[in-house]
Amino acid sequence: MNISGNDYASNDHVALAQDLRLLTRLGKRIVPLDWVIDTWNGTAVRDLEDCVVLTCDDGSDLDYFDLDFPNHGIQRSFYNVLVDFHAEYGRAAQPNLHLTCFVIADRSSRQDIDQGCLFSKDWMRDIWWHSAIRSGLIGIENHSFDHNHAAVKQPGLAGMARGDFFAVDNFERAEAQIANARVLIDQEIAPAKTRVFAYPFGHIPPYLINDYLPNHGERLGLAIAVGDGAQPVTMDSPRWNWPRYICGWHWKNPDALAQILAQAG
Ligand SMILES: [Zn+2]
Repeated sequence: MNISGNDYASNDHVALAQDLRLLTRLGKRIVPLDWVIDTWNGTAVRDLEDCVVLTCDDGSDLDYFDLDFPNHGIQRSFYNVLVDFHAEYGRAAQPNLHLTCFVIADRSSRQDIDQGCLFSKDWMRDIWWHSAIRSGLIGIENHSFDHNHAAVKQPGLAGMARGDFFAVDNFERAEAQIANARVLIDQEIAPAKTRVFAYPFGHIPPYLINDYLPNHGERLGLAIAVGDGAQPVTMDSPRWNWPRYICGWHWKNPDALAQILAQAG
């Protein structure tokens, strides 16, 4: 949804297409998030040194469908950017190419966000989640019940003020945002199941990281949670706050990404 033009700096879809080529040129292997989790928790043995995992947040239809974006024309979806890469370079260039999309669970909240933040074109649907998973190129994971987003018209769950995720500071609110989201998303994507949570806005409430997730994460089938700590993931990464680097924030051009990769590797 970060589209204000059609070049790298102004368009995450253009940036992703270029970054796939850069990563490949630099010899980085792109692998599914599941592979890293399984290796980290000891249920699989893989050499993942110097690998890269791709994720994106919020789950708009632009993740899967090419759409005509107001003022900026047809945009290749993230999914089709991956398909194009394989078509141009061959599957062998990145045989395990994969992108994890963190989606918002509640349909009516997604519709509010579509109206408040997009163009009221019904671009926050869940109809593509199944096909995306079946493609083998996309995973669907948990980005909360309603993002506690300011655009959501219903009053905040359990008395919460809207607009930030730090407000998720007790059990009732955490159950509403994380456990309920998991039930809804898992219903949509069955037989697949979510096992990763991404903090909305990158806000990491102390209650979630210190109390709720350590005590209830297993019950919810959660293996890890991801934030935006701008560090490489290692065997020592904190379970409930795996770091990520974010395009447009931690890097704004391919050279800056290459620099991050050189330092991280
Ligand atoms: Zn988000």
